[in-house]
This record gives sequence, structure tokens and C-alpha cells, in this order.
Amino acid sequence: MRQGTVLLIEDDDDIAGMLRLHVENEGFALVHAPDGEQGLEALRTRPPRAVLLDLGLPGMDGFAVAKAIREASDIPILMITARDSETDTIIGLEVGADDYITKPFSPREVMARVHAVLRRAEDRPKAPSTVTIDGHVVDAGRRQVLTPDGIVVRPTAREFDLLWYLSDNAGLALSRAQILEAVWGYDYFGETRTVDVHIRQLRKKLPEFPIATVWGVGYRVDAS
Ligand code: CA
Repeated sequence: MRQGTVLLIEDDDDIAGMLRLHVENEGFALVHAPDGEQGLEALRTRPPRAVLLDLGLPGMDGFAVAKAIREASDIPILMITARDSETDTIIGLEVGADDYITKPFSPREVMARVHAVLRRAEDRPKAPSTVTIDGHVVDAGRRQVLTPDGIVVRPTAREFDLLWYLSDNAGLALSRAQILEAVWGYDYFGETRTVDVHIRQLRKKLPEFPIATVWGVGYRVDAS
């Protein structure tokens, strides 16, 4: 069964070859681009369902590629980072990657993440539906927030999913594990940083939105 195309932007041929095997084995077609420029070209000519993006690329680096993709599309981006590069991971999530995986990784883990980002992308609310929190209209149909000042804010796809989940459960303290499972679609691996980074981004973009930190638990949207 053809599951669609996954675009891999990766300059290391060994890693690309290994990933190709696993991606194709699960019924996807794989398009491999060895650098960012060719990756962006492939994105236009053969739109994939998800992008696997290596951060360490010759020329245009992975951050710039992620930013360029995000200017045009909400497509799920799974970033591949070197181990021990926490800063890279955080910057990558901030520029719009949905999730990340660190080298060395097992192909099985990569495929689990690919399926999870795809599942989440497809589970996004389709029916027009809104929630109002402290004068902010969170609009699931348009995937945007109208602030009390009348400004339209469009978070990244994953940020919006997170905001929607918290808003839809306003008043409830949600643990990071619960949030990861609901918004990212995988079991808790202890990677709470992903949640924290996205919360930080949302707070930057929506400074008046009442997202409270519940110490020792996670987060809660307080609607008055
Ligand atoms: Ca590389």
C-alpha cells in the first residue's frame, strides 16, 4: 500500500540509505535530498506528507530549511539532531519542527515518530469550532487565535494543537505525559522538553493568554 511520500533532507549517505530501507518497507516512497536547497525544491515539485530534516547540512543549515518550509506549509517536520546538542533541539522546535530525534537513533524509533506526527496532523480538528478564553478566540477551523486587541496570531501547527488541547480542557491541570500523548501521539519517553519549548513559544506569541504552570504536574489554561 502506498502511504505517500516522505522527504528526507540529509547529507550522510549511510544514514539516508538506512532510513530509505525502513521508510520504504512501511509503504512510503522516499525522496532523498542531500542539501537544503534541493530539499526545498523537492518539497515544491513532489509534496510529501512529512519531512525528515537533518540539522547539520552543507550550505543552508537545518534551521534555515525548517524556517523556509514553515513559511509555506504546515507539513510535519521531524528533525534529526546530534546527541548532546540540547540548544540545537530547542532552536529547532522554536523554528517550527514538530518533533526531533537524536543521533544515533534506531530506525524503528524514527518510524514510530513519523507515524505519530502523521497521525496527529490528520487528527486535527476539521469541523469549525472555537473556544473563547479570556477574550481570546481560539479558532480550530482557521487554526488561529484572535486576541482581545483584535490581533490575529497564527501559531505553528504543533503549537496550535497544544493550545487547542489545553483550551479544550480549560481548568484542568494536564501533566506533560498526558500532553505528549494527546498532542504528539506517543507514549511518554521523558522528553518533556518538547512540551516546555512549545509552551514557551505560545507564551511569547500570546503573552496575555492564561497558561499557568502547575508545579510538579504540567500546565493548565485558566479561564476566568
Ligand atoms: Ca549531516
